[in-house]
Amino acid sequence: MSVPTHGPLFLTNTLTRKKEEFVPLRPPHVGLYVCGPTVYSDVHLGNVRSFLTFDVLYRWLTHIGYNVRYVRNITDVGHLVGDVDEGEDKIAKRARLEQLEPMEIVQKYTNGFHDVMRLFNVLPPSIEPTATGHLIEQIGMVERILKSGYGYEANGSVYFDVSKYAEKHAYGELSGRKIDELMTNTRDTEGMDEKRSPLDFAIWKKAEPQHLMKWPSPWGEGFPGWHLECSAMSTKYLGLTFDIHGGGMDLKFPHHECEIAQSVAADGVAPVRYWMHGNMLTVNGRKMAKSEGNGFTPEELLSGNHKLLEQGYSAMTVRFFMLQSHYASTLDFSNAAMQAAEKGLERLMAALTTLDALTPVATFDPAHDTTLDALIKSANAYMNDDLNTPRAIAVLFEGIPVINNAAAKREDRSGFSAEQLSRWREFYHGIAGDVLGLQHEQRVVANDRALDGLVQEFIRMRAEAKARKDFAASDAIRDKLVAFGIVLKDTKEGTTWERA
Ligand SMILES: [Zn+2]
Repeated sequence: MSVPTHGPLFLTNTLTRKKEEFVPLRPPHVGLYVCGPTVYSDVHLGNVRSFLTFDVLYRWLTHIGYNVRYVRNITDVGHLVGDVDEGEDKIAKRARLEQLEPMEIVQKYTNGFHDVMRLFNVLPPSIEPTATGHLIEQIGMVERILKSGYGYEANGSVYFDVSKYAEKHAYGELSGRKIDELMTNTRDTEGMDEKRSPLDFAIWKKAEPQHLMKWPSPWGEGFPGWHLECSAMSTKYLGLTFDIHGGGMDLKFPHHECEIAQSVAADGVAPVRYWMHGNMLTVNGRKMAKSEGNGFTPEELLSGNHKLLEQGYSAMTVRFFMLQSHYASTLDFSNAAMQAAEKGLERLMAALTTLDALTPVATFDPAHDTTLDALIKSANAYMNDDLNTPRAIAVLFEGIPVINNAAAKREDRSGFSAEQLSRWREFYHGIAGDVLGLQHEQRVVANDRALDGLVQEFIRMRAEAKARKDFAASDAIRDKLVAFGIVLKDTKEGTTWERA
């Protein structure tokens, strides 16, 4: 299939500041790159919003028939405290504070990030590359930039020559900045004895002897500049030019601007066709940030254990709340809005449960087909209109009275035929579940918890059978569990289980 099944998709391209029809380079394949987290601290809710935006994009592209290769990196080196070329490496600093190896910090916060993503039902990407796993590619890119004349070496570091690049190319095009304005506004003095201009940025930094994270390179021991990894890894997995690059609004400058410059300098082509940026989350009108004391973590949110929270809120409530606003608008977090979202989600999920429990009737209402056709048409149209999730959710709500009516008065011809039921279920589960990623979280968690007690009992019986070398009995227990959709995993620490 070369075209999506649901009509043309329009996305706001931050590069052109226009809503444009999305046409992939190599349909049905789509290459999507999203800047992942720097794994030096816990994820806060503002970060969750950005990853959720691109989760819905990934889900929608897949839903309408594209074959998406979704790359979301893990920044595990090179992101300095000052965000540009100044300060300590964020991970190395954390390692020093927590007295751990930098890679222990990376593992700890990568695990935490994955846990949070699972909690909010954000799907894993197809590839999750790390910066430290791609040093050869990054060094190669620095070499290509040097060869093309847009980089220079100074005292073991390599800098990108922004002024020279700007003579021929549109530096600042994505973020709408002008070189001369940037010049007057830059107060960056770090590395000025080496840099030719304050706008230049490091693509390779020389490591001081005490520096924890460093690698050999043609320019001596050092580490890559933060912007470089995304360019090197997107090129490696998606090609020189690929379809969509996403990230939070705050990454537009300098990070994404530098990514464009690096790719053009190294390989002569613009790397990205559609740039997309998610807007930020505010709390009671103020930007969410750790320094403001309002950057609460998912744990604080769930427990309600934060001075700004009147109660705890479930991860699905947060997901629903975030999707009720368009990704490009700012979203303000407040207790009132969260409580409204909680009620709305409950109503939607209850309708899904009702729909699943309905049984077909002989005297069904033929109008249910045309009603559904209209719902499908408008939900698709809204999602195709730059991922308008709030309007798509509103469409789901439009059909709820029909579902509830059928459940309440089945005898008066308001019921569904078997065929209608399966179409309605497919639509509701498709949009609410597959595309918006909403799920009955409490019930699933409760079921798994109840099940766990039972499975642990079988694990114990199997261990006893093994201990008395009755392997036939231990295998029989394992096979019986498999038949119930439960797979046991033996590790050094003991036996765990998961759903097949
Ligand atoms: Zn990036």
